[in-house]
Amino acid sequence: RTVYLNGQYLPENEATVSIFDRGFLMADGVYEVTSVLDGKLIDFDGHAVRLERSLRELDMVNPISKEDLLEVHRELVRANGIEEGMVYLQITRGAPGDRDFVFPDPEETEPTIVLFTQNKPGLADSPAAKKGMKVISIEDIRWGRRDIKTVQLLYPSMGKMMAKKSGADDAWMIEDGFVTEGTSNNAYIVKGNKIITRALSNDILHGITRAAVLRFAQEAQMEVEERNFTIDEAKEADEAFITSASTFVMPVVEIDGVALGEGVPGRVAPRLREIYLEESLKAAV
Ligand code: PMP
Repeated sequence: RTVYLNGQYLPENEATVSIFDRGFLMADGVYEVTSVLDGKLIDFDGHAVRLERSLRELDMVNPISKEDLLEVHRELVRANGIEEGMVYLQITRGAPGDRDFVFPDPEETEPTIVLFTQNKPGLADSPAAKKGMKVISIEDIRWGRRDIKTVQLLYPSMGKMMAKKSGADDAWMIEDGFVTEGTSNNAYIVKGNKIITRALSNDILHGITRAAVLRFAQEAQMEVEERNFTIDEAKEADEAFITSASTFVMPVVEIDGVALGEGVPGRVAPRLREIYLEESLKAAV
Protein backbone atom coordinates (compact mmCIF):
# COMPACT_ATOMS: atom_id res chain seq x y z
CA ARG A 1 0.00 0.00 0.00
CA THR A 2 1.17 3.50 -0.83
CA VAL A 3 0.79 6.09 1.93
CA TYR A 4 1.47 9.82 2.12
CA LEU A 5 3.77 11.35 4.74
CA ASN A 6 4.86 15.00 4.83
CA GLY A 7 4.84 15.61 1.10
CA GLN A 8 5.99 12.17 -0.02
CA TYR A 9 4.29 9.08 -1.39
CA LEU A 10 5.92 6.03 0.18
CA PRO A 11 5.42 2.29 0.61
CA GLU A 12 3.72 1.92 4.03
CA ASN A 13 6.71 0.19 5.67
CA GLU A 14 8.99 3.08 4.74
CA ALA A 15 6.80 5.78 6.28
CA THR A 16 8.07 6.50 9.79
CA VAL A 17 7.37 9.25 12.33
CA SER A 18 9.50 10.51 15.24
CA ILE A 19 8.93 9.10 18.73
CA PHE A 20 8.82 12.75 19.86
CA ASP A 21 5.78 13.49 17.71
CA ARG A 22 3.14 15.14 19.90
CA GLY A 23 0.48 13.03 18.25
CA PHE A 24 2.18 9.96 19.70
CA LEU A 25 3.07 11.48 23.10
CA MET A 26 0.02 13.67 23.78
CA ALA A 27 -2.72 12.86 21.26
CA ASP A 28 -2.01 16.39 20.02
CA GLY A 29 -3.53 16.06 16.59
CA VAL A 30 -6.66 15.97 14.49
CA TYR A 31 -8.01 13.66 11.82
CA GLU A 32 -10.63 13.15 9.14
CA VAL A 33 -12.08 10.09 7.43
CA THR A 34 -13.48 10.45 3.93
CA SER A 35 -15.22 7.52 2.32
CA VAL A 36 -14.72 6.35 -1.23
CA LEU A 37 -17.50 4.97 -3.42
CA ASP A 38 -17.02 4.09 -7.09
CA GLY A 39 -13.46 5.33 -6.68
CA LYS A 40 -14.71 8.83 -5.77
CA LEU A 41 -14.56 10.91 -2.61
CA ILE A 42 -17.78 11.45 -0.68
CA ASP A 43 -18.29 14.88 0.97
CA PHE A 44 -14.62 15.84 0.51
CA ASP A 45 -15.37 19.53 0.86
CA GLY A 46 -17.16 19.12 4.20
CA HIS A 47 -14.24 17.16 5.63
CA ALA A 48 -11.70 19.72 4.39
CA VAL A 49 -13.67 22.57 5.96
CA ARG A 50 -14.01 20.76 9.29
CA LEU A 51 -10.29 19.94 9.25
CA GLU A 52 -9.51 23.67 8.93
CA ARG A 53 -11.76 24.39 11.89
CA SER A 54 -10.24 21.66 14.09
CA LEU A 55 -6.73 22.97 13.35
CA ARG A 56 -7.75 26.57 14.06
CA GLU A 57 -9.38 25.65 17.38
CA LEU A 58 -6.08 24.06 18.47
CA ASP A 59 -3.84 26.90 17.18
CA MET A 60 -2.27 24.56 14.66
CA VAL A 61 -0.94 25.68 11.30
CA ASN A 62 -2.49 23.94 8.32
CA PRO A 63 0.41 22.48 6.34
CA ILE A 64 -1.59 21.82 3.16
CA SER A 65 -3.99 23.69 0.87
CA LYS A 66 -7.42 22.27 0.07
CA GLU A 67 -6.44 21.78 -3.58
CA ASP A 68 -3.31 19.83 -2.67
CA LEU A 69 -5.23 17.80 -0.11
CA LEU A 70 -7.76 16.77 -2.74
CA GLU A 71 -4.92 15.83 -5.06
CA VAL A 72 -3.29 13.63 -2.37
CA HIS A 73 -6.62 11.92 -1.62
CA ARG A 74 -7.15 11.21 -5.32
CA GLU A 75 -3.61 9.98 -5.89
CA LEU A 76 -3.81 7.51 -2.97
CA VAL A 77 -7.20 6.22 -4.15
CA ARG A 78 -5.72 5.75 -7.62
CA ALA A 79 -2.39 4.23 -6.48
CA ASN A 80 -4.11 1.74 -4.18
CA GLY A 81 -6.97 0.92 -6.55
CA ILE A 82 -9.68 1.81 -4.04
CA GLU A 83 -13.22 1.44 -5.38
CA GLU A 84 -14.95 1.28 -1.99
CA GLY A 85 -13.20 2.23 1.21
CA MET A 86 -11.85 5.26 2.96
CA VAL A 87 -9.03 7.76 3.15
CA TYR A 88 -7.69 8.51 6.63
CA LEU A 89 -5.97 11.84 7.19
CA GLN A 90 -4.14 12.91 10.33
CA ILE A 91 -2.28 16.08 11.20
CA THR A 92 -0.35 16.29 14.46
CA ARG A 93 1.60 19.20 15.93
CA GLY A 94 4.87 17.50 15.02
CA ALA A 95 8.04 16.62 16.86
CA PRO A 96 9.68 19.56 18.63
CA GLY A 97 12.32 17.44 20.39
CA ASP A 98 11.82 17.71 24.13
CA ARG A 99 8.49 16.64 25.59
CA ASP A 100 6.74 19.74 26.90
CA PHE A 101 3.13 20.62 27.72
CA VAL A 102 3.67 24.02 26.11
CA PHE A 103 2.98 24.10 22.37
CA PRO A 104 6.17 24.44 20.33
CA ASP A 105 6.70 27.56 18.22
CA PRO A 106 5.01 26.92 14.86
CA GLU A 107 7.98 28.65 13.17
CA GLU A 108 10.29 25.93 14.50
CA THR A 109 8.14 22.79 14.32
CA GLU A 110 6.50 21.38 11.23
CA PRO A 111 3.21 19.52 11.67
CA THR A 112 3.20 15.85 10.69
CA ILE A 113 0.68 14.98 7.98
CA VAL A 114 -0.21 11.39 7.21
CA LEU A 115 -2.75 9.92 4.81
CA PHE A 116 -3.52 6.30 4.03
CA THR A 117 -6.34 4.32 2.46
CA GLN A 118 -8.35 1.33 3.65
CA ASN A 119 -10.05 -0.94 1.18
CA LYS A 120 -13.63 -1.83 2.22
CA PRO A 121 -15.50 -3.68 -0.49
CA GLY A 122 -19.23 -3.88 0.26
CA LEU A 123 -19.34 -0.56 2.11
CA ALA A 124 -22.45 0.70 0.35
CA ASP A 125 -24.26 -2.63 0.03
CA SER A 126 -23.70 -3.47 3.68
CA PRO A 127 -25.34 -6.53 5.32
CA ALA A 128 -25.20 -4.66 8.66
CA ALA A 129 -27.44 -1.93 7.21
CA LYS A 130 -30.07 -4.54 6.31
CA LYS A 131 -29.94 -6.14 9.73
CA GLY A 132 -29.65 -3.01 11.86
CA MET A 133 -27.39 -2.42 14.86
CA LYS A 134 -27.67 -3.05 18.57
CA VAL A 135 -26.42 -0.34 20.91
CA ILE A 136 -25.90 -0.10 24.64
CA SER A 137 -25.80 3.13 26.64
CA ILE A 138 -22.76 4.23 28.62
CA GLU A 139 -21.85 7.37 30.52
CA ASP A 140 -20.18 10.09 28.42
CA ILE A 141 -16.98 10.89 30.30
CA ARG A 142 -15.08 12.51 27.42
CA TRP A 143 -13.64 16.01 27.52
CA GLY A 144 -15.73 19.11 26.75
CA ARG A 145 -14.50 19.90 23.22
CA ARG A 146 -15.99 17.02 21.28
CA ASP A 147 -16.58 19.39 18.37
CA ILE A 148 -12.83 19.21 17.63
CA LYS A 149 -11.97 15.99 15.83
CA THR A 150 -8.88 15.05 17.84
CA VAL A 151 -7.07 11.71 17.83
CA GLN A 152 -7.74 11.16 21.54
CA LEU A 153 -10.05 8.22 20.98
CA LEU A 154 -9.36 6.02 24.00
CA TYR A 155 -12.78 6.36 25.64
CA PRO A 156 -14.72 5.85 22.39
CA SER A 157 -12.54 2.79 21.85
CA MET A 158 -13.33 1.52 25.37
CA GLY A 159 -17.01 2.19 24.70
CA LYS A 160 -16.91 0.06 21.57
CA MET A 161 -15.27 -2.73 23.62
CA MET A 162 -17.97 -2.49 26.31
CA ALA A 163 -20.58 -2.83 23.55
CA LYS A 164 -18.78 -5.80 22.04
CA LYS A 165 -18.51 -7.58 25.41
CA SER A 166 -22.25 -7.26 25.94
CA GLY A 167 -23.05 -8.58 22.45
CA ALA A 168 -23.92 -5.16 20.95
CA ASP A 169 -22.38 -3.27 18.04
CA ASP A 170 -21.84 0.17 19.52
CA ALA A 171 -22.49 2.43 22.48
CA TRP A 172 -24.50 5.64 22.75
CA MET A 173 -23.12 8.01 25.34
CA ILE A 174 -25.21 9.77 27.97
CA GLU A 175 -24.50 13.07 29.69
CA ASP A 176 -26.84 14.67 32.25
CA GLY A 177 -29.46 12.12 31.23
CA PHE A 178 -29.34 12.94 27.51
CA VAL A 179 -27.78 11.05 24.61
CA THR A 180 -24.80 12.94 23.19
CA GLU A 181 -23.69 10.68 20.29
CA GLY A 182 -22.35 7.24 19.41
CA THR A 183 -18.69 6.35 19.94
CA SER A 184 -17.92 7.28 16.32
CA ASN A 185 -21.21 8.55 14.93
CA ASN A 186 -24.14 10.90 15.49
CA ALA A 187 -27.33 9.52 17.04
CA TYR A 188 -30.97 9.97 15.94
CA ILE A 189 -34.43 8.76 16.87
CA VAL A 190 -37.57 8.79 14.73
CA LYS A 191 -41.09 9.39 16.02
CA GLY A 192 -43.77 9.19 13.38
CA ASN A 193 -42.45 11.32 10.53
CA LYS A 194 -40.09 13.33 12.74
CA ILE A 195 -36.33 12.89 12.95
CA ILE A 196 -34.89 13.98 16.29
CA THR A 197 -31.19 14.58 16.89
CA ARG A 198 -29.16 16.60 19.36
CA ALA A 199 -28.39 20.17 18.27
CA LEU A 200 -24.80 21.17 17.44
CA SER A 201 -22.63 22.44 20.31
CA ASN A 202 -19.23 21.64 21.83
CA ASP A 203 -20.83 18.45 23.24
CA ILE A 204 -20.77 16.53 19.95
CA LEU A 205 -18.82 16.25 16.73
CA HIS A 206 -20.42 18.25 13.93
CA GLY A 207 -20.83 15.27 11.62
CA ILE A 208 -20.36 15.89 7.93
CA THR A 209 -22.79 13.05 7.22
CA ARG A 210 -25.22 14.57 9.75
CA ALA A 211 -25.28 17.87 7.86
CA ALA A 212 -25.92 16.14 4.54
CA VAL A 213 -28.56 13.73 5.89
CA LEU A 214 -30.53 16.49 7.63
CA ARG A 215 -30.49 18.52 4.42
CA PHE A 216 -31.70 15.54 2.35
CA ALA A 217 -34.38 14.76 4.96
CA GLN A 218 -35.75 18.29 4.75
CA GLU A 219 -35.67 18.21 0.96
CA ALA A 220 -37.71 14.98 1.14
CA GLN A 221 -40.32 16.82 3.31
CA MET A 222 -39.37 14.96 6.47
CA GLU A 223 -39.58 16.91 9.70
CA VAL A 224 -36.31 17.49 11.59
CA GLU A 225 -36.16 18.50 15.24
CA GLU A 226 -32.76 19.36 16.72
CA ARG A 227 -33.05 18.81 20.46
CA ASN A 228 -31.82 16.64 23.32
CA PHE A 229 -33.43 13.25 23.91
CA THR A 230 -33.04 10.76 26.74
CA ILE A 231 -32.21 7.08 26.36
CA ASP A 232 -35.72 6.25 27.67
CA GLU A 233 -37.29 8.34 24.93
CA ALA A 234 -35.04 6.54 22.44
CA LYS A 235 -36.20 3.12 23.68
CA GLU A 236 -39.81 4.14 22.98
CA ALA A 237 -39.09 5.65 19.56
CA ASP A 238 -40.40 4.11 16.34
CA GLU A 239 -36.90 3.93 14.89
CA ALA A 240 -33.36 4.99 15.58
CA PHE A 241 -30.23 5.32 13.49
CA ILE A 242 -26.69 6.64 13.35
CA THR A 243 -24.69 8.51 10.73
CA SER A 244 -20.97 8.72 10.01
CA ALA A 245 -18.69 8.99 7.00
CA SER A 246 -17.79 5.31 7.18
CA THR A 247 -21.27 3.88 7.86
CA PHE A 248 -23.43 6.51 6.05
CA VAL A 249 -26.87 5.88 7.64
CA MET A 250 -27.22 2.75 9.77
CA PRO A 251 -30.50 1.67 11.40
CA VAL A 252 -30.43 0.91 15.14
CA VAL A 253 -32.88 -1.85 16.09
CA GLU A 254 -32.09 -2.43 19.76
CA ILE A 255 -31.07 -0.19 22.68
CA ASP A 256 -29.91 -1.73 25.99
CA GLY A 257 -31.64 -4.98 25.02
CA VAL A 258 -34.96 -3.24 24.19
CA ALA A 259 -36.15 -3.83 20.62
CA LEU A 260 -37.43 -0.79 18.73
CA GLY A 261 -40.71 -1.41 16.94
CA GLU A 262 -40.50 -4.85 15.36
CA GLY A 263 -36.77 -5.09 16.07
CA VAL A 264 -35.92 -4.70 12.39
CA PRO A 265 -34.98 -1.60 10.35
CA GLY A 266 -38.00 0.65 9.91
CA ARG A 267 -39.11 2.91 7.10
CA VAL A 268 -37.19 6.15 7.61
CA ALA A 269 -33.58 5.06 8.21
CA PRO A 270 -33.28 2.74 5.17
CA ARG A 271 -34.90 5.43 3.00
CA LEU A 272 -32.44 8.05 4.27
CA ARG A 273 -29.55 5.67 3.60
CA GLU A 274 -30.76 5.22 0.04
CA ILE A 275 -31.13 8.98 -0.52
CA TYR A 276 -27.76 9.70 1.09
CA LEU A 277 -25.92 7.13 -1.04
CA GLU A 278 -27.58 8.33 -4.22
CA GLU A 279 -27.18 12.07 -3.65
CA SER A 280 -23.70 12.03 -2.18
CA LEU A 281 -22.44 9.82 -4.98
CA LYS A 282 -23.81 12.32 -7.50
CA ALA A 283 -21.79 15.05 -5.79
CA ALA A 284 -18.66 12.91 -5.25
CA VAL A 285 -15.32 14.17 -6.59
N1 PMP B 1 -19.36 11.69 16.31
C1 PMP B 1 -18.17 11.15 16.59
C2 PMP B 1 -17.72 11.08 18.01
C3 PMP B 1 -17.37 10.64 15.56
O1 PMP B 1 -16.17 10.10 15.84
C4 PMP B 1 -17.84 10.69 14.22
C5 PMP B 1 -17.05 10.13 13.08
N2 PMP B 1 -15.70 10.29 13.14
C6 PMP B 1 -19.10 11.26 13.98
C7 PMP B 1 -19.83 11.75 15.04
C8 PMP B 1 -19.66 11.37 12.59
O2 PMP B 1 -19.02 12.35 11.83
P1 PMP B 1 -18.90 12.25 10.26
O3 PMP B 1 -20.29 12.12 9.73
O4 PMP B 1 -18.28 13.53 9.86
O5 PMP B 1 -18.07 11.05 9.97
